[in-house]
Amino acid sequence: MKATPEDQNLLIELQLIDSQITQAKVKLAGLPEIEQITAIHTRLENTAVELAVVETELADVAIELRRSEVDVEQVEDRMKKDESRLNSGIGTPKELEQLQHELVTLAKRKADLEDGELEILMKHDGVKARVDELLNDQVGLKKLELELHVRLENAKAEIDKTLAELGAARGELVPKIDAALVELYDKVRISAHGVGAALLVGNKCDGCHLSINAIELERIKGLEADEIIRCEECRRILVRI
Ligand SMILES: [Zn+2]
Repeated sequence: MKATPEDQNLLIELQLIDSQITQAKVKLAGLPEIEQITAIHTRLENTAVELAVVETELADVAIELRRSEVDVEQVEDRMKKDESRLNSGIGTPKELEQLQHELVTLAKRKADLEDGELEILMKHDGVKARVDELLNDQVGLKKLELELHVRLENAKAEIDKTLAELGAARGELVPKIDAALVELYDKVRISAHGVGAALLVGNKCDGCHLSINAIELERIKGLEADEIIRCEECRRILVRI
């Protein structure tokens, strides 16, 4: 196959554009924000799961606390009744003595219940603090997620702009090169990791960076400038400088 040296040089220009397109696409797919957003999503999911558990716990403790308060109130009511009966002085001395005895028992019961209530209250405060902490985390994570989305969209827009420019440059360049040469180049590019054409630098192929053996190099030197050369190692189109 033959192609003018000008076309071969344009092919290297095309290769530069295509390499830049590949790089831009790799950058687009590997933007750090993508991974960061995924990590935030995982944390948000975990927070939501824990929050559901802790909020249920808080509701249970609130019921427990209310029950305990009612227990204390009931003992207090009973004590008030006993005290007013005692103060009225109505009843036999034995009955009055029983009331006094009951009041002592009730006071002890009240103190125990209040101790229990305090414990539940402390538990309630602890669970409530965890709920608040998780809600706070959620707000922070959502804010961060939003910021990351904005950063991701900006980075994407920038790369998309670059890709559009490169695509336009490619569109302008391709019609200037011999169609058969471009076809061969595209075919090689698919099988050679996106690089279809490389320069012959000294005795090295700039595509696979391997040296061309002396005999092959001699043969290449003897060829006409419009002869298309392929690297024996990587099969890429070799363009002489
Ligand atoms: Zn090569």
